[in-house]
Amino acid sequence: MQHIDRIYIDGAFVTPHGEEWFDLYNPASAEVIGKVRLADETDARHAIAAAKRAFALYSRTSKEERLAILQRMHDAVEAREDALFDAIIEEYGAPVSRARFMVKHATSVIQEAAKVLRDYDFTRRAGAAEVVMQPLGVAGLITPWNSNAGFICGKLAAALAAGCTAVIKPSEMSAMQTRIVTEALHEARVPAGVINIVTGRGETVGAEISTHPDVAKISFTGSTVVGKTILRAGAETLKRVTLELGGKSPMIVLDDADFAQAVPLAIQAGFMNSGQACIAGTRILVPQARMAEFEELARAEVAGTRAGDPRDPKTVVGPMVSQKQWERVQRYIRIGIDEGARLLAGGEGRPEGIGRGWFVRPTLFGGVSNDMTIAREEIFGPVLSIIGYRDIEEAVAIANDTNYGLQAYVVSADPARAHALAARIEAGRVLVNTLAHEPAAPFGGFKQSGIGRESGTFGLEAFLEPKSILGVAA
Ligand code: NAD
Repeated sequence: MQHIDRIYIDGAFVTPHGEEWFDLYNPASAEVIGKVRLADETDARHAIAAAKRAFALYSRTSKEERLAILQRMHDAVEAREDALFDAIIEEYGAPVSRARFMVKHATSVIQEAAKVLRDYDFTRRAGAAEVVMQPLGVAGLITPWNSNAGFICGKLAAALAAGCTAVIKPSEMSAMQTRIVTEALHEARVPAGVINIVTGRGETVGAEISTHPDVAKISFTGSTVVGKTILRAGAETLKRVTLELGGKSPMIVLDDADFAQAVPLAIQAGFMNSGQACIAGTRILVPQARMAEFEELARAEVAGTRAGDPRDPKTVVGPMVSQKQWERVQRYIRIGIDEGARLLAGGEGRPEGIGRGWFVRPTLFGGVSNDMTIAREEIFGPVLSIIGYRDIEEAVAIANDTNYGLQAYVVSADPARAHALAARIEAGRVLVNTLAHEPAAPFGGFKQSGIGRESGTFGLEAFLEPKSILGVAA
């Protein structure tokens, strides 16, 4: 049983002013495995004040100094890979292969930010003016539970590379993972106040950060509904905001695709991170002419997808993170059935032979129309919908008929045809015949999937403001 009773402010582990204790669970057993004492608004204000003090000096550090800090952060997180791996499985329930990826991802995002910084020119010319890219100030970084260390490290590395200081508000459900990351960051000897970490509730700590006048920038990953709240909260002080929100991504299978490849790819894209992924390809668009063939193969693929013990290497889908998420997934499966979708695999309840924990059955619906609730709302669990289309025009129309626009997938035997289709999709990323990630490329959403971009140069510039200086010689 872990008792986490420290937050991190001004380079030191301190007891929070907040007095609420919050239970931490193992989602595979639904047992309480720890308790965390939550920060409150007062703690958030202390953290913001420390970050503001530190900004005066840190914003003027050289590129070399920042690169050295990022390197130390990378090494310190890397040194804790095994502890982080265990915490991810225990507290979040990621299957082992996913947990290993998440650990590596947390260090690689720091490295990627360093690479961008190394090559970035903070000064350029525009006509007679010198344009200087200047750090924005104190950055509030608010992160969800579905990739805790990766989001903390990625946002923090970009902010620090730009010369901003940070106040981080991770999800309260990820306190064990956050403790390990915090200890690593402390060991990296970053100047006091540059990094502050205040685990607390969104409505208190998150709200304080998103309204406080001394916070210049908010970078948020989470749900669309909270993203809108943050945007409204930040309007009063005109905060710069980057919002990475939800998705309902289309997986468009073209009629020339080889289904032996397309079906496993589609199911993998849908079930990644146990379905708790904003980029999951949850709407599978299939040509009507080949529907029976696709459904048959996809049904077998989903029925053969192992859901269960995250420590079993054969497991693909682990438990949902919380009872609330479990109930949410059950509700959507019920709605799918009630609205007339055909259940091809899975369904309500736990997988066979599992009596406890927040496990759900990997579920596939056929005969879904794009106006059904399960095709419109983000479920955030392993529940996929197959939607038929007659021709390419209808495929494009269905793919774009959504409030979201984070990611899309196209599978085809003809790369030129797939490329032409990609140009017509309203999404921040389109992946053709691949699930590979490109860290140098911008990541973010069209429409209600967000505002702004992370990753690569775009991600760095999200923490910078251009300033033009005129009347000085080149
Ligand atoms: P959430 O929006 O409930 O919470 C995210 C974070 O915001 C948490 O730290 C939470 O405490 C905080 N928060 C809650 N209310 C707040 C408020 N009023 N003010 C400030 N902060 C507040 O999301 P979640 O349930 O933790 O995560 C799941 C959601 O995140 C999904 O909808 C998913 O699509 C989205 N997500 C998006 C991406 C992306 O990159 N686009 C990645 C992962 C998850």
